[in-house]
Amino acid sequence: MKKSEKYLFFLFVFIFIFSIEMNEHSFKTNFYRFIHSKICSIYDTCMFSEVRKHDPIFDPIIKKIEDNMSRYAGVNYKFNISVSFEDITKDDYIAFCYKHEQLDNKFITIRRDYFTLPLNNEMEDELELTLLHEIGHCIFDKEHDENFIYLANIRVPETVMQPRLMPILIFNKFKGYYYRNLVLSKPTY
Ligand SMILES: [Zn+2]
Repeated sequence: MKKSEKYLFFLFVFIFIFSIEMNEHSFKTNFYRFIHSKICSIYDTCMFSEVRKHDPIFDPIIKKIEDNMSRYAGVNYKFNISVSFEDITKDDYIAFCYKHEQLDNKFITIRRDYFTLPLNNEMEDELELTLLHEIGHCIFDKEHDENFIYLANIRVPETVMQPRLMPILIFNKFKGYYYRNLVLSKPTY
């Protein structure tokens, strides 16, 4: 192929992939993400420019998770991770953790319309569980886990890495176990 044909070919492929992708996502929210992910997947070196500014509103809850890690699992962590709200309108997820291995770049976005501020106690617990799940992905490299086990004769998710959030009553009742489960190889109940 001549050089000009080559460019034309790539342009065609690009428009083709782009048009498929655009059918499924709204232009406004996903245009940038789409371009970015395509460039990243081709070169795998580009800067992770989608990094969000950390919102200090999440500081107390991150601190609470660090404290609980130490209290329940006996390990001390400082989670150096950015957390921010995002206006997610279409996808049915509550939170997402983005991570770029090479650049050691990680940040969590939380669906804004799911958590009304100021948080009541129950929603604060739910945010704790949500963040713990995302930290599981980003910091501890955990995949989703759909296993169930019996604790005190109650059938409960084995880990916080359940794709769907567990009932908050279950999380609170076995909180110590769930923290240990995330970081210890043989968690005790
Ligand atoms: Zn997940």
